[in-house]
Amino acid sequence: MKRLSVKQKLTIWITLLMLLLVTVVLAFLMAVSSSVVTGHSFEVLDSTLRGNLTGISRGTDGALAFSEDFSFTRDGVYTLIYNADGALLAGQPPLSFPEGEPFENGHTRLAEGAGEGFYVLDFWLPFGREDGVWVRGVTPAPDTADILGDLANVALLLLPLAVIVSGLGAYLLARSTFRPIDRMIRTVGEISEGRDLSRRIGLPPGRDEISRLGQAFDNMFARLETSFESEKQFTSDASHELRTPVAVILAQCEDARRHAQDPAQYTEAIDVIERQAGRMRDLIAQLLQMTRLEQGTQRANYEQADLSGLVEVLCAEQPALPHGVTIRADVQPGVEAWLDVTLISRLLQNLIDNAARYGRENGHIWVTLRRVEGEVLLSVRDDGIGIPADRLERIWQRFYQVESARGAGGGAGLGLTMVRQIAALHGGTVTVDSREGEGSCFTLRFPAERRAEK
Ligand code: ADP
Repeated sequence: MKRLSVKQKLTIWITLLMLLLVTVVLAFLMAVSSSVVTGHSFEVLDSTLRGNLTGISRGTDGALAFSEDFSFTRDGVYTLIYNADGALLAGQPPLSFPEGEPFENGHTRLAEGAGEGFYVLDFWLPFGREDGVWVRGVTPAPDTADILGDLANVALLLLPLAVIVSGLGAYLLARSTFRPIDRMIRTVGEISEGRDLSRRIGLPPGRDEISRLGQAFDNMFARLETSFESEKQFTSDASHELRTPVAVILAQCEDARRHAQDPAQYTEAIDVIERQAGRMRDLIAQLLQMTRLEQGTQRANYEQADLSGLVEVLCAEQPALPHGVTIRADVQPGVEAWLDVTLISRLLQNLIDNAARYGRENGHIWVTLRRVEGEVLLSVRDDGIGIPADRLERIWQRFYQVESARGAGGGAGLGLTMVRQIAALHGGTVTVDSREGEGSCFTLRFPAERRAEK
């Protein structure tokens, strides 16, 4: 049984059940029909005999007289009249009826004749004190064997029919029910063999469990596909970003070996190589940090910290910013929050770096900290180049850079991804408000109170 498929098990089960049901119904029918037939004969015998009883009287001459309603044979019932000694006075018994059948008043019973059975009922009909006659009703007992034989024939026909019809029905039903599951198994197999995540089960939408299961699978495949695609994109972007500085370093080495003639030219080449190596180091460090945060291998160290102090110190200690940009801090004093000091410092530094990098000549950066109803609001605003409205959504993606930002020096498009990651670790969000040519404002919001850590 273990080796059978669910389809086969269901078919066998339903067929057996049907077989059992038909057998029980037939057995019941047989039992009921023979008792119904017997009961009916008893009733006919009883009522006919009682009807006849009232039609018998004894005349003044002592002879029996019969009314018009009286009949010796009616509805298959023979009426016989015997005297008190058991001698037949009137009526003709059926041929094979046994002679000398004893009398029993008012009790219907079976009397076996030659090859045939009879139901017999006697009544004592008194005429005065000492006089009377036995009135006997006799009717041939119906042959129940005949009825049972008929039913057995029906059963012989019905049982195989029931097996065929129910087995076929069950199989077809099971097959149509399991067809979507077969489809799922096939699709999942194809996906895992060919690793083609764009395949879908594609069941027509419905409310039944199997349709819902199919849709849940499809949704899962869609999510997996997106995540695999973004992993692939990430790997290709990361290698691309790393290849550029390596190419520059190699070209610089080649150039120095061939053309450099004096120490000054060598130093120049070494400077370029150092800058590119530094870019690679920063990029690798950023990638590593992001991966650790994403995979949870680096756990945040939360503590109740003085955020106001942290923001003020960080702003005050900024080294000279590019483009002559200046920074101003507007910090509400005494704002404390449950945070990881290193991560929040990195987040703020990233936002300040961007504001300076994409700022205008002699521009400004405003850093504001407020506590509003249990939440901390930290914003970094600049009056720089701003971000085109249609790019606002994409700046959070890994390695994404607005074209105008490319070559602006520094970043590889990972800064904001990390900012968002750190905000999420603090149970918060970062939003951006920006107008091209006017400036941008990034705002971090997170709950100040301690949260249940994940
Ligand atoms: P990057 O290393 O390029 O700065 P980020 O992830 O920090 O990477 O930022 C993604 C892109 O968003 C940047 O390349 C830039 O185009 C845009 N951007 C970020 N901050 C600002 C800002 N303050 N002003 C204008 N554009 C910005």
